[in-house]
Amino acid sequence: MSTTEADRIYRFIFEHAEVSGAEIHISNVLKGMTEFKKYPYAVARLLSECTVAVALLADYMKTKGSISLSIQSGTLIQQLNVACRNSLEVKAVAVHSVTDNEPHAFGELIGKNAVMTITAIPDEGDRYQGTVPVVGNGIADCMTEYFQQSEQLAAKFMIFADPNAPEGPEAGGVMLRVMPSDNPAKRKEDFSGFCMLLDTLKPEEVYTLPGEKVITRLFGAEGVTVYKPHDIVFRCDCSRERCLGALKALGRDDAEKVIAQNGGRVSVRCECCGRNYSFGADEIRALF
Ligand SMILES: [Zn+2]
Repeated sequence: MSTTEADRIYRFIFEHAEVSGAEIHISNVLKGMTEFKKYPYAVARLLSECTVAVALLADYMKTKGSISLSIQSGTLIQQLNVACRNSLEVKAVAVHSVTDNEPHAFGELIGKNAVMTITAIPDEGDRYQGTVPVVGNGIADCMTEYFQQSEQLAAKFMIFADPNAPEGPEAGGVMLRVMPSDNPAKRKEDFSGFCMLLDTLKPEEVYTLPGEKVITRLFGAEGVTVYKPHDIVFRCDCSRERCLGALKALGRDDAEKVIAQNGGRVSVRCECCGRNYSFGADEIRALF
């Protein structure tokens, strides 16, 4: 997969129906997510699918801010968090107890009693949080059901991910969303027709075809306008400065203890991306 086609979202709109959509393919984002932090296959797949869903929603935000998805569960996944800015900088992390590389099913990974929430956090104004029902075989089913149940307009998601794809991790999919309409009956009929077309989408198409081709293959006969793509990047906000800030917050006495326990050189690991930062005793002592 060429890097120029991966890590992009293509928005599109139907010319004769009040329905819009977006196509996404990510690969480098997933490499960034797992560069310093390795996940078993099933966890990486779920994390990739959640990242796709959150990026699609963040790209739709009308104001500056971010969208986050959080899963709390008592099963194989204890916690999963994905956050994406509307400018499409995304980060994701999972805490889990999976010890093998088996393709554990969605229900086995997060269980029926998991609590899944979506939060829209505008830079200015009130945040909005909704509970996502845990249904079906994956995050796409959950998101589709969420829009079905909530006061928002209907949407349909198709999401695929393959952490073990031959040319590196791949994920992507398509979202369809209805728009406000004066003719809800026609819109409903249009939307259900497009949903049937979307059901024919195959993972390999998302992984290997340019986004525009995926959209025209699915909906070309219906009349669609495809917009210029938006780039998505993985960006963790950790840094040496932040780690030093955390060491400073320990206070002088505890910092000395940490230096002694670690034989004079202290490593701090970012819990999100897994990157390691290493500090000498002098550098830490200079903080106080
Ligand atoms: Zn980090």
